[in-house]
Amino acid sequence: MNVKSTEDRHSAGTYAKRDLVLVRGKGALVFDEEGRPYIDCTSGVGVASLGHANRQVIDAIAHQAERMITCYELFYNDARARFYEALSQLMPAGLDRFFLCNSGTEAVEAALKFARKVTGKHGVLAMQGGYHGKTLGSLSATWNPRYRRGFEPLLDGFQHVPFNNVGAVEQAFRKNGESIGAVVLELVQGESGVKLATPEFVRTVRRLCDQYSALLIIDEIQTGLGRTGKFFACEHYGVIPDILTLAKAIGGGLPMGVVALGGRVRELGKGSHTSTFGGNPLVCAAGRAFIEQMIEERLPEQARQKGAYLLDQFRRISSRRVREVRGLGLMLGIELRERAQAYVSALMKEGVLALLAGPTVIRFLPPLIISRDEMDQVVGAVRKVLGGESSAVEGAV
Ligand SMILES: *Cc1c(COP(=O)(O)O)cnc(C)c1O
Repeated sequence: MNVKSTEDRHSAGTYAKRDLVLVRGKGALVFDEEGRPYIDCTSGVGVASLGHANRQVIDAIAHQAERMITCYELFYNDARARFYEALSQLMPAGLDRFFLCNSGTEAVEAALKFARKVTGKHGVLAMQGGYHGKTLGSLSATWNPRYRRGFEPLLDGFQHVPFNNVGAVEQAFRKNGESIGAVVLELVQGESGVKLATPEFVRTVRRLCDQYSALLIIDEIQTGLGRTGKFFACEHYGVIPDILTLAKAIGGGLPMGVVALGGRVRELGKGSHTSTFGGNPLVCAAGRAFIEQMIEERLPEQARQKGAYLLDQFRRISSRRVREVRGLGLMLGIELRERAQAYVSALMKEGVLALLAGPTVIRFLPPLIISRDEMDQVVGAVRKVLGGESSAVEGAV
């Protein structure tokens, strides 16, 4: 079978695919049909934090599959209860209840619904550059006009303010504070270029939410679960949200979204929000195995140390093409003075898979278990394509 032409013939065609078929993964490596290895600095966009084919996750899935795969939340279930217990040990103080779903965008949808229900206000303040998913509610919070075009009108009452602009968020509240029920915020904007929120901005948003009885929704779908060097990025800021969304890595590679709820989000009402697959035992077992491994392997600490090393190594690459290198933990971006696409393609030829984050940023989200040797290979490849002879990118698309 020709994998590419078969996929191209049947896919809805909404993904911009690279010219590469991946069939297998192990640790931080993935392999193509010919068995060629690549260092996976995409991790399925931050999913494979434990790397690929983690033994404990495999065993947990196999064991739970034998026992019970599906159990709607009409009933209690042991795997789900154990997952709740494991997760609640990690969470920042007060975020002690959870709604379980199946993806990031669903977690944001649920968060937006809960905020409406609890505050009775439908206004939402989101950030320019923010990314929260592509279903209609989440898309209303997502900023990129390229994703929104063709799908408007989206939900009423959403307003995007400039990220990290204290004055703009203060003004938005002064003007519309009575109708703003929630602020949705990423602490490191992933999709739009690995941009860190300033502590002052985050503290201001928290204060305004309290002052105007709005809920602070922090979207940690990409930043959560050790990626930035702490269990949650909000720990870097000393700010606790009313609602925290998780997805990507939380299911150990299986599809899962989690909405963590603080004390102000209660009394949501039976039947007000449900999901057929939400909290299914199979994903809960994988998720619990992931959490246990994350604690045992001290993944946040690994991300902190390795992230500092990679950041330093990237900054040592002297190339006139580089505008800035930035990041937090193992969420790293190299911003170029030109479009980044050709360099991402050139990296692939060098055996390194990286992501784009906006038109000019190369983004790295490697598994948190990546080795020193693999990091050095990544740095070598980046140095070669950015600093080396320009032939490295010729003909790349
Ligand atoms: C990936 C992502 C989402 C959307 O998650 P999906 O599972 O793709 O729907 C939402 N918010 C952030 C911050 C993300 O990185």
